[in-house]
Amino acid sequence: MIRATNWIGDAVMSLPAIEALEARFPTAEIVLVAKPWVSDVYSHSDPARRIIVYDSRGEHQGIAGFSKLIGQLQSERFDAAVLFQNAFHAAWMAWRAGIPVRIGYARDSRGFLLTDPIEPPPAASYGHQTFYYLHLLFRAGLIARPEPPRPLTDPWLSVGAGKKNWVTGFLESSGLHGPRFLAGLFPGAAFGPAKRWFPDRFAALADRLVAALSADVLIFGSQTERPLAEDIARQMSHTPILVAGEITLGQSMTLMEQCGLIVTNDSGSMHVAAALGLPVVAIFGSTDARATGPLGPNARVIQHLVPCNPCGLRTCPIDFRCMEGMTVATVYRAALELVKASEKPLNRPAHTRGS
Ligand code: SF4
Repeated sequence: MIRATNWIGDAVMSLPAIEALEARFPTAEIVLVAKPWVSDVYSHSDPARRIIVYDSRGEHQGIAGFSKLIGQLQSERFDAAVLFQNAFHAAWMAWRAGIPVRIGYARDSRGFLLTDPIEPPPAASYGHQTFYYLHLLFRAGLIARPEPPRPLTDPWLSVGAGKKNWVTGFLESSGLHGPRFLAGLFPGAAFGPAKRWFPDRFAALADRLVAALSADVLIFGSQTERPLAEDIARQMSHTPILVAGEITLGQSMTLMEQCGLIVTNDSGSMHVAAALGLPVVAIFGSTDARATGPLGPNARVIQHLVPCNPCGLRTCPIDFRCMEGMTVATVYRAALELVKASEKPLNRPAHTRGS
């Protein structure tokens, strides 16, 4: 059993470690226990992968719900648990489920619940967050080297043919049938405002993409990011399609796969888009792209480097100079360069939407 991480970005960054474990134990049945909002990441990385959805806000809510989950885990008779999630609760769950071997980083005061508590490596020693998960397996003696089983720049996610029916219907009902150039914007970032570029700049960028590429602009995001998407739409001269808060992560993946360009803040969706192999312009502010930059063959990070970066804070305590210095022209230039360099053909008719 692998207790998966709860953040979408970490779910993507842990995929190489999951594949490394599967490659090392090809006859083992490896089952992921994952929260509902990340389960699409795992099913899109390998449709054959078995996932037990831990719905702590639904059927597994409260003491009775958690006991139900424990009963399910006990009936699986797992031989070992590997905990990619760092919390005490993950170790307690594995212990309660009676799993005899429990491997995880000794964090959150949970070492006594683990049979193999692994000292977390200093961040400077492993570099990109992907290696944090690979190092857990390596330090536990499960893999010979803390290396991914294939290049990190490979696409780690894909949308199966069977999942494309929905997107065809969605595009038709949105008036986007036929050859189009779709540009997807992800203006949110669940971590906090220090990762978010400004709505008025996203709006100005979107209008420039419409003018230059005859693009149809889609604005993605979660339900809580819907007001942000609406704010950007209000500030645009053209009319975008708002999908923020209206579709699931799985649907979002099939829709973003239709896009010839994705522009995003440093967020979980950035990792998903990059892992799908899409052309991604990733705007970094407070965080360190060397540690949590997007994996993928067509991802490009842009960052206005300032002495206080990376601060890792959720909210800027000073003047937000890392984002203030990121101009529309810079992002626009990076976007056009990436579109030109990408293999996706610009097969589009004259623009038919917009004001
Ligand atoms: S402290 Fe510096 S790096 Fe952090 S959000 Fe503010 S300007 Fe950006």
